[in-house]
Amino acid sequence: MHHLREALEQSQKNGLAIGHFNVADMVLVKAVFASAQELNVPVLIGASGGEREFMGVRQIAAMVRSLREEFDFPIFLNADHTHSLAKAVDAAKAGFDSIVFDLSALPFEQNVRQTKEAVEALKAINPDILIEGEIGDIGTGSEIHEEAPDLTKGLTTPEEAKQFVESTGIDILAPAVGNMHGMLKSMVQGETKKRLNIARIGQIKSATRAPLTLHGGSGTDDEDLRKAIAAGINIVHINTELRVAWRRGLDEGLTKLPNEVVPYKILPFAVESVKQVALSRLRLFNNK
Ligand SMILES: [Zn+2]
Repeated sequence: MHHLREALEQSQKNGLAIGHFNVADMVLVKAVFASAQELNVPVLIGASGGEREFMGVRQIAAMVRSLREEFDFPIFLNADHTHSLAKAVDAAKAGFDSIVFDLSALPFEQNVRQTKEAVEALKAINPDILIEGEIGDIGTGSEIHEEAPDLTKGLTTPEEAKQFVESTGIDILAPAVGNMHGMLKSMVQGETKKRLNIARIGQIKSATRAPLTLHGGSGTDDEDLRKAIAAGINIVHINTELRVAWRRGLDEGLTKLPNEVVPYKILPFAVESVKQVALSRLRLFNNK
């Protein structure tokens, strides 16, 4: 049986990162699984609150579990950005492998206290579940934004990262290191790239020795991603790039088959479009 903790330790040992891709339907699940299978690398499926609500918490859990079991493959499921303990409990009971418990909008002390309580409550449901905590400001939705937010004030410091990891008992830390959710229009067009604070990642890694997740990886400079992984990032989240590919593939299918109504003849265009993006990111994260 495959366990996320082991896959994470293996990736860390080899200086690689696990790709985390958000899904909202079976097209995305199929595309991400096919790309991980093709490269034979572990992969994390992510479902945020909105995505879980659309698919059903237990339904997406059953789908990912069925792939892991049928193909004996290291595919795992993460409850992305969970803002309440009740929703986190739902995901833990449904069998999710990890939960991003995100109270980063709260003052630091409150974030520490409530994250610690959540870690205890969720490990009581499943001792093997991994809990990720979040500090700092990395913006909001994985969408196309008009304007760049000012995130410099929200960078995580090594001191608060160490204190947060030690006082909460989290397994994984999501720091703010120049990353942000969503993409600017210029990033979708490939004209600009996100840049990361590599030195800060290294300092946070040295201070905490914890597995680190990079949220908002879409549209990031490739060389920065390589350096970030070398500096201690173990999981990289990609969502917006997949959403853009999903939409483009769907548009292509509808345009090429204007009179078609059979979903399984139209949707493979979207699967292929998403798969190409997932493949490119997984190759980079796994040095393949
Ligand atoms: Zn995120």
